[in-house]
Amino acid sequence: MDTEPFRVWIEEIAGSVRAEKDTLTRLDSAIGDADHGANLERGFDAALQAVRDRAPATPGALLTLVGTTLIRKVGGASGPLYGTAFREAGRALGEAPSVSAADLAGALEAGLAGVVKLGSAAEGDKTMVDALTPAVETLARAVRQREDLTGRELAEALRAAAEAAGEGAEATIPMQARKGRASYLGPRSVGHQDPGATSAALIVSALHRAVA
Ligand code: ADP
Ligand code: MG
Ligand code: MG
Repeated sequence: MDTEPFRVWIEEIAGSVRAEKDTLTRLDSAIGDADHGANLERGFDAALQAVRDRAPATPGALLTLVGTTLIRKVGGASGPLYGTAFREAGRALGEAPSVSAADLAGALEAGLAGVVKLGSAAEGDKTMVDALTPAVETLARAVRQREDLTGRELAEALRAAAEAAGEGAEATIPMQARKGRASYLGPRSVGHQDPGATSAALIVSALHRAVA
């Protein structure tokens, strides 16, 4: 893969964040401060604009630019967390003009590790980590089985990863939040899907569409 599917990924994320903005805001109004939709719309619109303006020459440079833009444009918890995820993923890809399925899997693992290092959330804490972890593991498992996945096989693995992220997001409903703003609610955070886990599932689905 060269930079094109990565550019399409960001375009797809910006589109689905725009389409789901009200849902993300509604989820964040139940257990947060009702800004998750607006935060991500501002961030990914700016990221897409930056990618268009600067036309980065490698997948690694593109993801790094997206991460830096998110950190700059998005306040709140999700900006630094998603920003770090994209920057770490970009750093893992280095300056290679073209990357493999195994490189992509490794980059997503690095991105998730960055989120965990910064936010110190574990699975079960009712955060984006609950959607990202099963998705990243699903893709990592697929490339461990066969490192040189064909394009079709990669698309299939990403479809499975997107499904795992969606299930991970739904699984946050009965959880009590232990990280971020929602944790201030204690037991009252139970019974609502986490907004960040929901947006994380959108981001993984967007990757599937960009690569398929
Ligand atoms: P804020 O809560 O600061 O208003 P957002 O509403 O944009 O920021 O994002 C909230 C989301 O961020 C939560 O739903 C959760 O998934 C995620 N989040 C918050 N704190 C953490 C953390 N420490 N680790 C991982 N994710 C977190
Ligand atoms: Mg919020
Ligand atoms: Mg906020």
